[in-house]
Amino acid sequence: PPRVRFCPSPTGNPHVGLVRTALFNWAFARHNEATMVFRIEDTDAARDSEESYDQLLDSLKWLGLDWDEGPEVGGPHAPYRQSQRMDLYKDVADKLLAGGYAYHCYCNTAELDERREAARAAGKPSGYDGHCRELSAERIAAYEAEGRAPIVRFRMPDETITFTDLVRGELTFTPENVPDYGILRANGAPLYTLVNPVDDALMEITHVLRGEDLLSSTPRQIALYKALIELGVAKEIPAFGHLPYVMGEGNKKLSKRDPQASLNLYRERGFLPEGLLNYLSLLGWSFSADQDIFTIPEMVAKFDIADVNANPARFDLKKAESINADHIRMLDVKAFTEACEPWLRAPHAPWAPEDFDRTAWERIAPHAQTRLTVLSEITANVDFLFLPEPVLDQASWDKAMKGEPAALLTTAREKLTAADWNDPESLKNAVLAAGEAHGLKLGKAQAPVRVAVTGRTVGLPLFESLEILGQEKTLARIDAALA
Ligand code: GLU
Repeated sequence: PPRVRFCPSPTGNPHVGLVRTALFNWAFARHNEATMVFRIEDTDAARDSEESYDQLLDSLKWLGLDWDEGPEVGGPHAPYRQSQRMDLYKDVADKLLAGGYAYHCYCNTAELDERREAARAAGKPSGYDGHCRELSAERIAAYEAEGRAPIVRFRMPDETITFTDLVRGELTFTPENVPDYGILRANGAPLYTLVNPVDDALMEITHVLRGEDLLSSTPRQIALYKALIELGVAKEIPAFGHLPYVMGEGNKKLSKRDPQASLNLYRERGFLPEGLLNYLSLLGWSFSADQDIFTIPEMVAKFDIADVNANPARFDLKKAESINADHIRMLDVKAFTEACEPWLRAPHAPWAPEDFDRTAWERIAPHAQTRLTVLSEITANVDFLFLPEPVLDQASWDKAMKGEPAALLTTAREKLTAADWNDPESLKNAVLAAGEAHGLKLGKAQAPVRVAVTGRTVGLPLFESLEILGQEKTLARIDAALA
């Protein structure tokens, strides 16, 4: 069975590009009954952090993107953190050196820069020029005597490399565009260029699905793979598929530093995992020509990497929100009621914990469900129920109180006092009658009532809201507004 991998580096906060890559690998794995390997590429001690590692695991769990092998679950190729696999890389590097697939390079930065500039000036390819490929024993001895510490460089074969990308079709790279490249630093630390394909080989990965930004490393990795096969370290070269770029504002590549790219932002605003995943799946893939909204199981059932589009995808926050709103509406009421809970408690909720009334919440929830784009909006929608007094916003107040609201509110109060408080229809008729007494239609008549009671000009259906708040509090708030 096929094996895919998601192998982020634990640097910074998880971003949506990373999630899209994880999602496509996961959907491929679940559709094809393949194995999803989760590997942590933490060989860069200066940039990697434990906090970021924890966040990666937590984010995948929140999203429901599970893995078959990797941290916490283990597997036949453990450990799955590269920082714990250093001996393996050292061993492979030694084999590559011994087999002549790699060599020591003594060039220092100043020399490399100088020759690169010269090549550029002459209009020639400016990658590594092969200077140390065939050094004599004397030359090596002289460099060593100078105290130079060499890096290890992979020797690219002098041949054109062609492969069929699962997304882009056949791609060809000529040797002058793929120079020899470093695989070990002078201090012996292995680089991404080595550890990533070596682990793919050792973990028997069959399909590499990753971002287009890594396309230029693919011909190098294919060449390295060929060497690993000759050395008996790898079995076969995996298939590669490069997912399209995601473009943000101003048609620039969405950068991980872009605030819109931060996964935490979506979590904090109350995106549902399935809403966010539905949206992210559309960045390069489509469910069908006329359907944008689907569940994740539906996506898995249809997902085929061959359907991924090579053209850059445009990130559109408004669309993400609208898809999320649809997913909120798709929840059954109980699930919705529970999903909102974190926003009804500290630190999100502005009311005291003891003022939260679970029964009132359960009663109002169905009226709120159709109105939310993100779950965090629930707090402002129901705060009138749990705060001792409504948050009065002056502009709303002034707008609603234009004309003769005091007279209207006085009549409304009278009619509401006599209404049946178990029936929102009766409350509506009370306000309707008050409006009629002052020559106002229902819409105009209910505005000051809404502002007096909820503090806002827009909100949940008013009469259901009043019923749930109850007669005593409603009338007290109207009194306060009239005072
Ligand atoms: N650790 C690499 C990254 O975060 C993985 C790249 C790959 O999928 O090969 O970009």
